[in-house]
Amino acid sequence: MSPREFPDFVERGVDLATRTTLALPGQAAFYARITSTGQLARLTGNWSLRRFALGGGSNVVLGGDFDGLLLHLAIGGRELIGEDENAWYVRAGAGENWHQLVAWTLAQGWPGLENLALIPGTVGAAPIQNIGAYGLELADRFLSLEALDMQSGRLLRLDRAACRFAYRDSVFKQQGWHLDAQLVITRVTFRLPKAWQALTGYGELAAELERQAVDHPSAQQIAAAVIAVRSRKLPDPATLPNAGSFFHNPLVDATLGARLQQIYPDLPCYPQPDGRIKLAAGWLIERSGWRGRGLGRVGMYEKQALVMVNHGGARRAEVMALASAVQADVRQRFGVELTPEPIIL
Ligand code: NAP
Repeated sequence: MSPREFPDFVERGVDLATRTTLALPGQAAFYARITSTGQLARLTGNWSLRRFALGGGSNVVLGGDFDGLLLHLAIGGRELIGEDENAWYVRAGAGENWHQLVAWTLAQGWPGLENLALIPGTVGAAPIQNIGAYGLELADRFLSLEALDMQSGRLLRLDRAACRFAYRDSVFKQQGWHLDAQLVITRVTFRLPKAWQALTGYGELAAELERQAVDHPSAQQIAAAVIAVRSRKLPDPATLPNAGSFFHNPLVDATLGARLQQIYPDLPCYPQPDGRIKLAAGWLIERSGWRGRGLGRVGMYEKQALVMVNHGGARRAEVMALASAVQADVRQRFGVELTPEPIIL
């Protein structure tokens, strides 16, 4: 398909700054707000033009000119599609706001997603990086997803095994499908077990529940505690544009982990089942002197050094320069490689 044949819902020359939470200036040559799978299917086929699927724009560095077609996934809808003695089954459209889905399931009396409250972004973006927080990840509550193959136009169903979930990772990232919208997620189905157990093992969450004097928390109380912790530490994009955590928490081999722990006894180290050690990227950045420090019009947030913020009018090149400077300092000081978490276009 060529731009001349585009359906009339495809817009031209659309401003990017309002489409992402980092608010970098730029323009998309073509833009389509997608509210149904049928509408998306009208844009499938073998194209020379680049396509990119955008959800809430909270995990992407997108600035300057994008000369392709931006597919803004706004497919809505959330419903209970089934229930048995073991679980509730909930399906949601890719464009649903993630936090609103969590809040809605809790209000219906279906616990299970509470630890993932207030994670920015949409339902459709959540499986791509297998979002996780406070000891729970999406994979733990996932049943299946529907995705449209943008070449063939076929609608596929991927179950948990097919998604190959790992720590903040899935088959979408492993295959690079998310980079040029090869397979676009349209709906996700969750399995929320009725045998619910509170997950309060993470230090900050446990401390917040203690502060609130909650002994045996309900799912709603856990969500409230997660919201309280996150709101204290993370900037609201409406007042301070940002793309959330800018780097992955690195996994290092056991030898490097042990050596670093010997030198820095207060370094948070979390052994993984595969023998590697997970380190807190925010701690490494803070100890490299970047907390609350900036370069140009961008900086690492004063309350959480892992978050890069746009102090106003920043451009893509400034984001990249700060990311490189932080990576270089962490590499030099700790011998650890930080990799960016957002998709960089
Ligand atoms: P944090 O709570 O300061 O944690 C920093 C790192 O320490 C994370 O890697 C975290 O593990 C790990 N950690 C802390 N307590 C642990 C424990 N008891 N056992 C094992 N590992 C532990 O992180 P933060 O930056 O303020 O973020 C708060 C939460 O939101 C974290 O769970 C973080 O991963 C999550 N988050 C998720 C996304 C996302 O899914 N896109 C984005 C931003 C933040 P985990 O890596 O297992 O969390």
